[in-house]
Order: sequence, then C-alpha cells, then structure tokens
Amino acid sequence: MSSSIAERIRKVQDSLPESVKLIAVSKKVSVAAMREAYDAGVRDFGESRIQEAASKIDALQDLSGITWHFIGHLQSNKAKQALSYFQWIHSVDSLKLAQRLNLLAQELAVDPFICLQVKILPDPDKSGWTIQQLLDDLTELDRCKNLQIQGLMTIPPLGLDSSEILQVFNRTQQLMAEIGDRNLSNIKINQLSMGMSGDYQLAIECGATMIRLGTILFGERSV
Ligand SMILES: *Cc1c(COP(=O)(O)O)cnc(C)c1O
Repeated sequence: MSSSIAERIRKVQDSLPESVKLIAVSKKVSVAAMREAYDAGVRDFGESRIQEAASKIDALQDLSGITWHFIGHLQSNKAKQALSYFQWIHSVDSLKLAQRLNLLAQELAVDPFICLQVKILPDPDKSGWTIQQLLDDLTELDRCKNLQIQGLMTIPPLGLDSSEILQVFNRTQQLMAEIGDRNLSNIKINQLSMGMSGDYQLAIECGATMIRLGTILFGERSV
C-alpha cells in the first residue's frame, strides 16, 4: 500500500455512518505507527495481547483521550491486568470469566464496558458462547453488577462467502433484540462489535456500531 496511515484512516472514516465507531486494531503495530493514527484522529485502539498492549499503553501515556479496547482471548490469570489497562473488553466469552471480571472490577473499583462474544456458527478456532449457551447464562450474567454489559461481539468463521457472512451478522443483530426482549435489569445491550478489514461493510449493513480494523489501516501484519 502506497498511501500513508493517515490517508487510509481518513478514507475509511469518511465512509462511515455517524453511528459507527472505528476501533483501530494495533496488535503487532509499532508505537510510532500508533502515534500517526492518533494524529489522524484515532482515539479508540484495539489490542489482543495483554503483554504487548501493556507496554504500548505505557509508552503512549502522553496522549490524552484514548479509549483502549481488549479484543483477544482473555485468560483468567490476565483478567486483573486487562481491567487495569482497558476500558472495554469485547471478548468476554464465558460465564466464569464474566464472574471473575465482576469480582475484580469491584476490587479495583472500575466499571468496565463489556461485550459478550458469541459464536453464531460452530468454529473450532474461536471462543465464545453459542446462542443457546448465552441465552441460558443471561440470568447469571445479569447478576454481574460491576460490569457494564453493553453489547455482543462476533467474528465469522474464515472462508465464508458474503451472503453467509451477512447471515452471521444478521443473526447477531437478531440475538441482541432477543436479549433486549428479556427485560433484564443490568444487561441493556445496544452495541454490536462486528466487522474487520474484509467484512466491515457487511457488518455495517447489519447494524454494527463498532468495527475493528487493523490491516486496512496499518497494512499487513508480519507474523
Ligand atoms: C486482528 C483482529 C481484528 C482486525 O483484523 P483485520 O482483518 O486486520 O482488520 C479485529 N478483531 C479481532 C478480534 C482481531 O483479533
């Protein structure tokens, strides 16, 4: 890609409806590139590994107004660190993890914003609730009063065509409505965290409110 990070950010940002928040996924991206993104107006960054994120967040302390979003699989022994570094955790994928975060949030006196990660289709490579498991766990999740449960997060399995991806995103949107119909006391969800570089336009068609973009902004990641 010959354009600069700032140009790519502006191009994507200009194409987004007002209702959609851009989260710049900066995993494996240098602190210098993150500063470029900040200067281009990015204030929401997504990271998927605690260790890597912690050192970059520390290195960017001088930049004000950043919201940090954790989007990777969270091991329970990293939960405390996640809460001390991130305002949002998009990848809460089990009742056990939610309950642990709830206890730790009280201890740390934080009110984290949470998305519940759902697997709409079976996917051995991903964690998350199945639809049925999530519906079964809602009553218990609703007791996690220290968590601000805001929405659902999903990642379609690899290798789907666009009509299949649309079905996954539509089903996620429908699930959010079903959860709303339960009239729970704590869980009032209205956020859909879905859409990555390859499928974010489809996600927006299905009501995404937060898109998580890495490659299209920063270029290919070296593994
Ligand atoms: C890496 C990652 C992204 C960004 O993916 P791109 O295809 O580079 O845009 C989004 N969400 C999650 C959970 C990720 O791990």
